[in-house]
Amino acid sequence: MRKLAGLNLSDYDPKFVESISNLPAEELKDFLIEKVSLPLDDKDRVLVELAYQMAEDLCEEGRHHTVCVARGKSQEIYRGLQLNCSRAREHSVCAESGAIQNAAQKRDPVVSIVTVRYKPGRSDKAVVPPCGGCIERLRRFCPDSFVIVEYQGGLIKFPVGYLLSFGYPTKN
Ligand SMILES: [Zn+2]
Repeated sequence: MRKLAGLNLSDYDPKFVESISNLPAEELKDFLIEKVSLPLDDKDRVLVELAYQMAEDLCEEGRHHTVCVARGKSQEIYRGLQLNCSRAREHSVCAESGAIQNAAQKRDPVVSIVTVRYKPGRSDKAVVPPCGGCIERLRRFCPDSFVIVEYQGGLIKFPVGYLLSFGYPTKN
């Protein structure tokens, strides 16, 4: 059974499969978004609001650039704050790590997660996708979670297993 990014290609017309096999990455991303993304529900919108408020309260240039808020299956909310080490970037700790750890300590599977970046005075608050390392952590420890991401000016949620289609924004 031939698969592409988790999709069972035998469900699709062979000519269509041939055409998407050669798609540029951006067009394949659009295709996946159409097939597997979901709109936000009210609980997701609350999560985004909590993340924006947390970013407003805690983000600080050079110290904390992102915050992460996750909802567990139990409906409990878990938070994480990025710890920035500007002189040794590899020692920085991503906000997602904190939220994933806090949920793991309660053995509560994360169902929905969002990260907001904010550098006061330098950039506005924005929902950003997890970095490659956090995608790996999410895939390992929260394999059934949906990640809220920005797409074409709006927000959608995407199964974590498909997230490698998103590149981290390079601006700011
Ligand atoms: Zn990360």
